[in-house]
Amino acid sequence: MKPTGPIPPYFAADSDGMLQIGGRRADDLVAEAGDTPLFVYDMDIVRQRAKRLRAAMPEALALHFAIKANPWAPVLAAMAPLVDGFDVASQGEMDRALAAGMAPDAISFAGPGKRDRELKAAIVAGVTLNAESEGEVSRALAIGRDLAIAPRIAIRVNPSFDLKGSGMKMGGGAKPFGVDADRVPALVEAVIKGGGDWRGFHIFAGSQSLDADAIIDAQAQTIALAAALAEEIGSAPRHVNIGGGLGIPYFSGDAALDVESIGAALSKQLKELPNILNETQFAMELGRWFVAEAGVYLTRVVDRKISHDQTFLVCDGGLHHQLAASGNFGTVIRRNYPIAVANRFLADASETVSVVGPLCTPLDRLGDQVALPHADPGDLIAVFLAGAYGRSASPTAFLGHPEPIEMLVNA
Ligand SMILES: *Cc1c(COP(=O)(O)O)cnc(C)c1O
Repeated sequence: MKPTGPIPPYFAADSDGMLQIGGRRADDLVAEAGDTPLFVYDMDIVRQRAKRLRAAMPEALALHFAIKANPWAPVLAAMAPLVDGFDVASQGEMDRALAAGMAPDAISFAGPGKRDRELKAAIVAGVTLNAESEGEVSRALAIGRDLAIAPRIAIRVNPSFDLKGSGMKMGGGAKPFGVDADRVPALVEAVIKGGGDWRGFHIFAGSQSLDADAIIDAQAQTIALAAALAEEIGSAPRHVNIGGGLGIPYFSGDAALDVESIGAALSKQLKELPNILNETQFAMELGRWFVAEAGVYLTRVVDRKISHDQTFLVCDGGLHHQLAASGNFGTVIRRNYPIAVANRFLADASETVSVVGPLCTPLDRLGDQVALPHADPGDLIAVFLAGAYGRSASPTAFLGHPEPIEMLVNA
């Protein structure tokens, strides 16, 4: 038997032992959807988390949602009033952010390799470009001159530090993201001289950290870097996006972050700002922290089989929808996400099984040797933490199975 991650504290069963999601029975949700597999997102959980974060963070801090975590239009529409901005990383995401009703000047567009047509669309819309290179800045300025619009440009800085213990390192050393800090002052000068509307800095040091002290430390370094750059430029940035990196407990032994202690430390840092940043508006950008725990992936057992004394529950869902749970999205060692038999949520675990999907690859494994109550074909398996990096981060076309259904509860 191998351990599984902790089921988020928002979930319980009714007296039948049926998992409830947002006050609805899992089997009723499947009936309403008409089929499995199915992603269900409970927006009450997202609202609770947004409220908690607001209370924990300094009042002056803007909170942004990095929509790549879950770009489904109904999720974005529900998220828009909960946050101060959306961060996007493609024209497709930008179009979704605008369609969700987010104001253009509250959208920032990061990501390397922006094409001319993407730069043009952002400039026309009035979205801030988080420029990833000198080349991108010069193309944006040229496009702005052609259009007679001053492009809003923030510089994404590649910091010399990274967020310790983070799942995906995005800073420190040679990176395709951002501009090395020592070249940033000259680039800001080029933006201003070239007719751009310089908005500030975007400094993102990493993702998926469960170490509050490391996050606090990275935030202090980020603010110090922004101040040092501002001093060298001789001008204050209007906006500084300090990144995010707040992680989610996915695996056995993981503990949820104490966002209140991070907020307290950040409040102190913002109270003791270097003078040059006194008028600067700070923002934090988070993806998974808002939405991961709100999502459940429901898949039905199609077959139960034995091979070499091991039991396999073969399901209609798998890595083509939930790549992250299979351990093939940004993790080095495969570990089990929290998983349950949704219609036997209260039953004790009675056997060790592997929960696999229908794809012809040994990678398609939602649960590896997990302890579960006995399950047969027709039973429903719930994989938790499916609200972030689910459908949109999975190879849904691989092997030609149907797309998953997505559904909101408590919209
Ligand atoms: C992916 C990404 C995020 C969101 O990361 P989470 O771990 O989901 O919070 C935020 N900012 C940038 C620049 C990113 O690339």
